Amino acid sequence: EYLLAIESSCDETAAAVITRDMRILSNVVSSQTDLHEKFGGVVPEIASRAHLERILPVIDDALKQADIELHQLSAIAVATEPGLVGSLLIGLTAAKTLAMTLDLPLIAVNHIEGHLFACQMQEDRRLFPGIGLVVSGGHTNLYHCSETFDFELIGATIDDAAGEAFDKVAKILGLSYPGGPSIQTAAQQGDPRAFAFPRTFLKDPELRFSFSGLKTAVLYAAQGNPGAKQQPPPLDEQRIADLAASFQETVVDVLVGKCRQAIERYGYETLCVGGGVAANSLLRERLAEMTQKAGIQLSVAPPDLCTDNAAMAAIAWYHLDRGRVADLDLDVTPGLVR
Ligand code: ATP
Ligand code: MG
Ligand code: FE
Repeated sequence: EYLLAIESSCDETAAAVITRDMRILSNVVSSQTDLHEKFGGVVPEIASRAHLERILPVIDDALKQADIELHQLSAIAVATEPGLVGSLLIGLTAAKTLAMTLDLPLIAVNHIEGHLFACQMQEDRRLFPGIGLVVSGGHTNLYHCSETFDFELIGATIDDAAGEAFDKVAKILGLSYPGGPSIQTAAQQGDPRAFAFPRTFLKDPELRFSFSGLKTAVLYAAQGNPGAKQQPPPLDEQRIADLAASFQETVVDVLVGKCRQAIERYGYETLCVGGGVAANSLLRERLAEMTQKAGIQLSVAPPDLCTDNAAMAAIAWYHLDRGRVADLDLDVTPGLVR
């Protein structure tokens, strides 16, 4: 049995073919980074237009690479929430059209649940119940996962998401977009202890995050605090590297600390981490150290399943088994998961 999955929630146009036993036969991602780079962030109108141009070729590619014909498919899955409304609508319209013309079940997928499910996809062992963390461009969410398809939100950021902080700090430091990979690279030459940035809520008993103060702290360290008498030295390559390394260290400390707190509170033995920021190598290293010390199983999504892709929408198989099939009046739910 073959599932065609479609993803267009933000600025990646993606399609994948996944078998019932979670083999990924194809996973095509057409990124629009080049279109949005000069704006330092995703421009919704440009994103929708690019999705419209790319969606059919991307679906075609996914089928070709999987060596599957349309008539062999058994279901169509599509990410319908959260995301940009115009972007989501392109994927949804393509999915509905295929489901209707091929007379196949249409399954709506939550993109954030997909990010978490990406941890389970390539694991033979059963991961859940456990604690899940999604760290992405729009979300920093902790979940209590009682089942592979049942996630309850137990903590979130009160302002910026971790990935958003990477992107904004990269902009402040004059590094390229998206910020995550460019900060990670710059940080390799920097001293993570050069700057002491605030680890907001790290010691707070509540499961919550805040990265907006950190972003401002980096801004002031880089360009000067408007209220201060002394201005910082100009940004040379070493200072940029030190700021990048200190910022990255701070985010990783907070994320790992809050995961440990959630695990202790809920008494679980498994931690799953997904989303674009989970591709960060320092975060992966520190998560491995922390869970090893605590005697906890860790599953971080493989790097190519961390950033946006359609394969993670294979969680749709679980929905299909539970009869969660959508009608053709299915609509998108933009905005954030809170
Ligand atoms: P959401 O999933 O919340 O709707 P999104 O889909 O835009 O948002 P993702 O594609 O999951 O987010 O992740 C993109 C984010 O991941 C960007 O903010 C990017 O900077 C960040 N990111 C990617 N690679 C890395 C990395 N190596 N280190 C840190 N951050 C990274
Ligand atoms: Mg993206
Ligand atoms: Fe995402």
